[in-house]
Formats: sequence, structure tokens, C-alpha cells
Amino acid sequence: MSVKRTKIVATVGPSSESKENLLALARAGVNVFRLNFSHGTHEEHLVRVQRIRELNAEHGLNLAILQDLQGPKIRIGNVEHKDGVLIEAGNELVFTNEELIGTAQRVSTPYKGMYQDVKIGERIMLDDGKLEVKVVRLEGTDVVTEVVYGGMLKAKKGVNLPSTKISMPSITDKDYADLDFGLLHDVDWIALSFVREAKEIEDVKAYIQARGKRSRVIAKLEKPEAILNLDAIIAATDGVMVARGDLGVEMPGEEVPMIQKTIVEKCNIAGKPVIVATQMLETMITDPRPTRAEINDIANSVLDGADAVMLSGETASGKYPVLAVEYMAKTIVNVEENEAKKKFNETKIFFRHHSAVVDQPGANVLNDNVVMSACRLARDTHARAIIGVTRSGYTGYRLAHHRPLAELYVFTPDKTLLTQLSLYWGINTIFYDRADLVTDELIEDIKQVLVDRGNLVLGDVFINTLSMPISQNRKTNAVKLSVVE
Ligand code: PGA
Ligand code: MN
Repeated sequence: MSVKRTKIVATVGPSSESKENLLALARAGVNVFRLNFSHGTHEEHLVRVQRIRELNAEHGLNLAILQDLQGPKIRIGNVEHKDGVLIEAGNELVFTNEELIGTAQRVSTPYKGMYQDVKIGERIMLDDGKLEVKVVRLEGTDVVTEVVYGGMLKAKKGVNLPSTKISMPSITDKDYADLDFGLLHDVDWIALSFVREAKEIEDVKAYIQARGKRSRVIAKLEKPEAILNLDAIIAATDGVMVARGDLGVEMPGEEVPMIQKTIVEKCNIAGKPVIVATQMLETMITDPRPTRAEINDIANSVLDGADAVMLSGETASGKYPVLAVEYMAKTIVNVEENEAKKKFNETKIFFRHHSAVVDQPGANVLNDNVVMSACRLARDTHARAIIGVTRSGYTGYRLAHHRPLAELYVFTPDKTLLTQLSLYWGINTIFYDRADLVTDELIEDIKQVLVDRGNLVLGDVFINTLSMPISQNRKTNAVKLSVVE
């Protein structure tokens, strides 16, 4: 199989958490494992972290770990029956802060300010929008609603209030406790759920930095407010997730496809990695085959320019986790090998980004242009590979940003970058720590590493980006073209 460029994020759960299964998923094409902190204890997550790190050490993999914080997700409490309670259109359903076992008339939620935040007539969605109620009146701190679309309501199901300005903090006490856990174990990426504005991301980044940690932050875009503040959020964050599950409930579903395209394009221009998430192969939670529409969704997300596509229930609790990743990987490769996609990369992204890089305020114009020249040279010489050597990771981000056709190899002595860069489109990282070599020796040695791995063969053109003369803290300033002889 040819090299897959778009990355796969897979959520770990009962269907995938054994070491054996994690390895099978990695072999099938997973680059990043997501630990969903809406579920599970710290002890359970720690076991998963350790297994993933063991696999990296034992099999020479660079699997990244993405910690997904729950955020201010509102859920109802327990309800009477295992199969849930039947709420019927036209009936009243009361939301209360009182702790109780829910019935078809009355359910509990820990959302304290609910009665102050909601307005009469506002819609409330339950269980990812499968059920809908609307606020009819307040009784003390209880919120009385009328059921619009009824059905079975099960314990702990999510509550979305798309038109309500929710007073709850974006990062809850539970999130901070989980964040401390993630930082203690140096997770590569930390995703913040229900982000509303850039300041929330800046606060978490400051929190991480104050603790001397290097985990990078992903903003999950799943609220209308986030779409209104899109540019500021993208500027503030290290990466983005198009969280279509909640976004499709919080906003009219028909708006999500174009919102996805807008977000992906803006992230591509800004050079920030973007993940498209949720329901990509939903059918495969129970069936061994996806729908045509699901395959199309993956293909279109790749064409949009996503750095990564994500699986949730499919790998966490589904019946066919490995098959799902295999389908996803096959679909990605098929799109990427297609001529149309190649043209798309070379014209649309490549040239558009040229001006974007130079025009961006604060952009490192000199380095960026060296990296871009490497990509342009690779395109014009049909080079097989572009090889960056980096301590800061910067060359890695910039190489991914240009979406070149050449394969991308990033050599680094930095263990954090080795896994963190796995989320970026097209980037393959390789641990490398030969500070003793001078330029010519370095190029020769790196070439040999890639030949030994089977990534380069006789006659291949390859391009190195370098800092000359070699020094620890000099930035990339040179491009060298070579042929494997
Ligand atoms: P979740 O986020 O799976 O944590 O809810 C993704 C989404 O909402 O799409
Ligand atoms: Mn969500």
C-alpha cells in the first residue's frame, strides 16, 4: 500500500484497549489514539497511556496520544429503567437540580444555572438531538418543558441547548483534574470541548506552559459561538477538531458541511492541523460494511484538506474496530492516489499558501520560504521525498502546510515531537540524534536511514532542508537536492 498522507485518529475504548488490539489498529493505519475523558477513570486511562507507549518502544511506532476533555457537556442523571423512560410529544418534562432517579415526567441535571439561563420557547435537544423539548415555564429552579419529538430517554444522555447562553465555565473542575493527569503523563495533544472563545484556549495554554509542559491544544468546534469566533480561535489554538456530533445538534444539520469546509480551509491557510470527526463510519459500530455515504464522507473530508479523520464509537465500542480503520485507510489512499487530488494539492493548496505564508503577520518569512522552496523544487523535480531535520518542530509544521506530493520525513532528537507531529498531514517522524556529523555526512547518513527503511531506492530524487553551518539553534536556511546512487 502506498503511503497514507491523511492521518487517522481512533478513540480507545473496550473494543480497542487491549495491547493486541491497539497494535492491530496501529498496523491498520491509526496514527493518533484519542482517550475520551467523558468516560473512564484515571486508572483506566493510565493503563491505556502505558500500553500505547510500550507499543511505540517495542515496535518503533510514533503513536500520539490525544486527551479529549469532557468540557461543559450537560447530561441528565439516572432514569428508572435500563432501557430508559418513554417521553411523549405534548407531555411535560421537568428538569431539576434535585438528585433523583428520572421518570418520564421529571429528570435531574447537575446544570445549576439552567433556570436562569433558559428563556421561554427555547429548544432543548436530548441524546444528540434524537429527542427535542421546548421550555414552557419556570417553577422555582425547575425548568418545565413540553416534548416536541419524543422517544426513549436513557440514563446519562447528553443535553444540548443550542440557543441558550450557558453560564457554566468552559473548563470545569473535572476538566482541570483531568488536565493535570494529562500533563503529568505528557500527553501529546489536549482537546477542549465546547470551546466558545479564544481566551479559553489562551488560558489553558498558559496553564500548560506554567507547568513547564509541552502538550499542544486542540479546539473542538461544536458550538455556534465558536463558529462566530472562528478566526480568533484558529489564531489562538495549535489545532482544531470539527466536532460534527455536537455541532450538528447545536446548529442546523444542513449547515455543517459548509462549516466543515470553511474551518478546514482556514486551518489549512493558517497551517494548523485540523481533524474531521464523528459518525464517519457509524454503521460499522454494528455492521462489517460502511454505507456508500460514509465512504463518501471520508473521501470528501480528505479532499477538503483535513490533516486527520477520526473514529469514535467505531473503535471505542464497536464490533469491527480494525475493519473500520482498514476501510478508512483504504478510502484515504484511494483518494490521495487519484490524479484529481494530486492536481488539487499542487494548484489549490500549494499556491494559495504561498501568499498566505508571506502575508501572515508574525510569519517567519525567511524560514517559511526555504521550506516552500523545498516543496516547489520537489514538485518540479518529481522528488520522492523531502527530509527535514528539526529540534523545534517548525520545519515539520511548515512542510505539512504545503501539502507536497513528495513524502515527508522529519528527523528529530526530540521525543515529544516524534509523537506530537504524528497528527500532521503527511509527516513521518524518525528519531535521530547525530549532532556530531557535518552537513555532507549528515545528508549521507540520513539517506542511508531511509534506504534501509525502504523509503528511498536507487534513482530516487530527495531533498533535504538544513541549517548551515549545522548548529543546535540555527533555523532552516538551506535546501539540497540529491539522487540515490
Ligand atoms: P465528542 O466530540 O465525541 O467528545 O462529543 C466530538 C463531536 O461532538 O463530534
Ligand atoms: Mn462533542
